[in-house]
Amino acid sequence: MPDRFEITHKDVFGRIGKLDTPHGPIETPALLPVVNPNTALVAPKEMRQFGAAALITNAYIIYRNPRLKEAALSEGIHELLGFDGPIMTDSGSFQLATYGKIEIGSAEIVAFQRDIGSDIGTPIDIPTPPDVPFERALRELNVTLERIWEAAAFCGAEMLLAAPIQGSTHLDLREQHARLLSTLNADVYPIGAVVPLMESYRYADLSSVIMACKAGLALNKPVHLFGAGHPMMFALAVALGCDLFDSAAYALYARAGRYMTASGTYQLNDLAYLPCSCPACAGGDPKLTERELAEHNLWVSFAEINTIKQAIIDGQLWELVERRCGYPALLQALRTIQKNCAPFEAIEPLKWSFMYTSTESAERPDVARFLIKLTNIELTGRVLITTNRTQTRDMEHEFDTTLLMKAPFGPYPQELAETYPIGQSEVPDPDYASIKSAVRNLIALIRSKNVDATFAYDSTWNHDDLEKLSSYATLLPL
Ligand SMILES: [Zn+2]
Repeated sequence: MPDRFEITHKDVFGRIGKLDTPHGPIETPALLPVVNPNTALVAPKEMRQFGAAALITNAYIIYRNPRLKEAALSEGIHELLGFDGPIMTDSGSFQLATYGKIEIGSAEIVAFQRDIGSDIGTPIDIPTPPDVPFERALRELNVTLERIWEAAAFCGAEMLLAAPIQGSTHLDLREQHARLLSTLNADVYPIGAVVPLMESYRYADLSSVIMACKAGLALNKPVHLFGAGHPMMFALAVALGCDLFDSAAYALYARAGRYMTASGTYQLNDLAYLPCSCPACAGGDPKLTERELAEHNLWVSFAEINTIKQAIIDGQLWELVERRCGYPALLQALRTIQKNCAPFEAIEPLKWSFMYTSTESAERPDVARFLIKLTNIELTGRVLITTNRTQTRDMEHEFDTTLLMKAPFGPYPQELAETYPIGQSEVPDPDYASIKSAVRNLIALIRSKNVDATFAYDSTWNHDDLEKLSSYATLLPL
C-alpha cells in the first residue's frame, strides 16, 4: 500500500500533513466533527463553513436504523449526510464501551462501512478502560489485533484502514501494540479508550499513553486521538504527535450550556460578556441558543486548529502549549512530558526561535538538548564561567577558556553566541527556574570534563543551587 500521508512542516512531535482519501485530502492537524444522522444539532452539510474538511459518523448507529441503513446502502454515506468531503466511520466500539455489548460482528460492520462508501473504516476494537489488570488488557488487545487484521482485507484504495491502538494504561502494552500495528501499514492509527482519562482530567496519564504509542509507531503515520474534542488540549496533543481529532464535544457541551474556549470552559449562564467574536457571538448578547452555542464551540475549536498550524510553521508550538497549560491538570501533563522529553531530543527539528514565556519554559526539551551540544565541546585546564564579562575581562588571561552564561541554557563559548538557542532566544532577566536549569547544565558539563572551573557571578545569579555547584567549581561573587 502506498503511503497516503505526507508531512510538510514539523515542530516538536507536531506536524502539518496531508492525508489522501478517496474523497480528497485532509490537511492535518484536523478536527472531524462527529455527526449523528439522527440528532444533528448542526447539519453535516453545514460543517464546511466552520472549517471542517472531513467528518466522522458512527456506522453502527446507521446500521441499526433500518431507514438510514437502506438509504446509506443505496445512495452512499456522502449522499445521506449531504457532505462530499472525506467521511470517516466509527464502528460501534463506543457503544461497546457504554453498553457492554453490540449486535454485530466486526467483519460485518467493516464490510458495511466499505459498502456505504466510507473513506476511512474502523473495526470494532475493544476499548479497554484505564487501570485494569495487565492480563485483561493483554487479552482484549489480542482480540482487537485479530479484528484489525481481519478488517485489513476489506480496506485498500476504496477505503482506508484505521487501526486502533489499545492497551489501557499499561504503557509497555501500548508501545508493543503500536509497534506490531506499524508492520501492518494501516493508514490511520487511532489511540483508543482515552476518553475516561480526559473525563477525569488525567491529562498527565493521557500524555504518557500518547508518548508510549508514538514510541512504537512509525513516525510517518497519522495518529488520531479518539474522543478528544476540547480545544484546550489540542495544542498539547499535537505537540505529542497527534494529527486527527474528533469532536462530539461541541454538541454535548452546547446541550449542557457549556461555552468552550481554548483555555477552558465557561457555563454560559455565568457569562455577562462573551470573550469571542465568532459569527455566533458577534452580537454580544450572552443569551445564546443551544444551536448558537454549538456553532460557537465549533468556531473556537477550528480557530484553535489554525492557531496550532501557524505555531508549527513559526516553530512556536511549545510556546503555545505553555500558554494553553494554565489549567492545573494540563500543567501536570506538561511537567510529565518535560520529565520524559528524551525522545524529543532526537526528533524535534531544528528551531530558530525560543521564547521564555513562563517558568515552565526552563524545562523545555531545548534546554536538555543544549546540554548534549555542550558536552561535545572540547574543554580542559582552567575554565572561567562568567555571567558578566565586563567585570571579568581583566582576569580572563589567567584561564585557558572563558565561557559565558545564559539562563535557562547554561554555559556557552563565544562561538555559539549567534547559534540556536543562545542567539535566537528571547529570555527575560534570569528567574529562579531558569537559573536552576542553567546551573544544572553547568554542573553536568563540569562533571563530564576534566577541568578546574571557576564560576564568576553577579548578584542576579544568587540561587540555592550554587551550594551544589560549589562542590564542582570555585565560586567567585562579583
Ligand atoms: Zn464565539
